[in-house]
Amino acid sequence: MKAALVYGPMDVRVVDVPKPEIGAGEALIRVKICMTSGTTIKQYVRPYPGWGYPHGFGYEWAGEVEEVGKDVDKSLIGKRCTTSRPSQVCNCFFCVRGKPHLCARWRDAMKTTKHSDNPETGEVSGRFIEYVKAPASLVNVLPEHLSSEDACQILYVAVAQHGNNNVNIKVGDTVATVGGGAMGMIHLMLSHLRGAQTVCIDKSQSRLDFAKKIGAADYIINAGNTEEAKEKLKELNINEGYGPDVVIEAVGLPETYEEAFELVRRGGQVLMYGGTLQGTTVTFDTYHLHYDEITIVASTAATPIDLVRAYNLVERGMIKPSVFISGEYPLTRIKEALELHRTNKGIKYAIIP
Ligand SMILES: [Zn+2]
Repeated sequence: MKAALVYGPMDVRVVDVPKPEIGAGEALIRVKICMTSGTTIKQYVRPYPGWGYPHGFGYEWAGEVEEVGKDVDKSLIGKRCTTSRPSQVCNCFFCVRGKPHLCARWRDAMKTTKHSDNPETGEVSGRFIEYVKAPASLVNVLPEHLSSEDACQILYVAVAQHGNNNVNIKVGDTVATVGGGAMGMIHLMLSHLRGAQTVCIDKSQSRLDFAKKIGAADYIINAGNTEEAKEKLKELNINEGYGPDVVIEAVGLPETYEEAFELVRRGGQVLMYGGTLQGTTVTFDTYHLHYDEITIVASTAATPIDLVRAYNLVERGMIKPSVFISGEYPLTRIKEALELHRTNKGIKYAIIP
């Protein structure tokens, strides 16, 4: 069977790997869809923390159970499913305090082991692949009304939801995102659900138009720098001109971190959401921080309860992440899809293995 692996920066190859063999209690799942995402693009263009080459990738996926092992209910066969779950829970300091996304064991493992895959033995992680096996107990069967295109992105919604929950958004607030990618747009949608009006700030007019078209953004601002963004926010006269109550950074660059901090109103909150490279530093005006009493919060990953909340939102049709799919590509043409995503042509691409 075929799998796409990263062999180095900008070097993705579709190679033959052995099909997984399942044992008792396991299910063999045919991957039907796997999305390109911010994480897969980072893994495509540069070394990724904790990973050596070559390694598999692709995390937002859905499939169909094709075979089950001994002791597994045969009625699972033919069912559409996912197996995504964000993190394990162990007995470390953080897990017992309800923060499994900060798990000490997981972090230590990330630091000390450089995980790479072995295409010869078929030990390949990620879901840009034709088949995967999983313990049957982890198979989540999808209800009929929930499309694979929506279901495969629930983890993505869960991670955004985790961050959105870290800031206190109230009915009638104005929330602005610096960044109009899929993550920024999910933050806008979640903020709408909380009763806020939304502003999307980006440099790409096509992304902004899209954010407006799908109803994620009430207002869009095309700004090349912080001063321009400030100016245009002023024209909208949000909060008597003081600016948004909450600003969410959804890019992951030092300049957007600084911009988000600059744009928030006195007494407001900033969510630093985008992941940056280790060692990245930013500069803040501490006068603004102290005298304007700015709250800065961050977020990373998601917990099992975030996944449940995200599932509920998507299953009920309150968030439809399938709107972000800009096109479909077979696994053999994954490089084209990654390039389109990387160069901001379209939002996300569905790979059909
Ligand atoms: Zn733990």
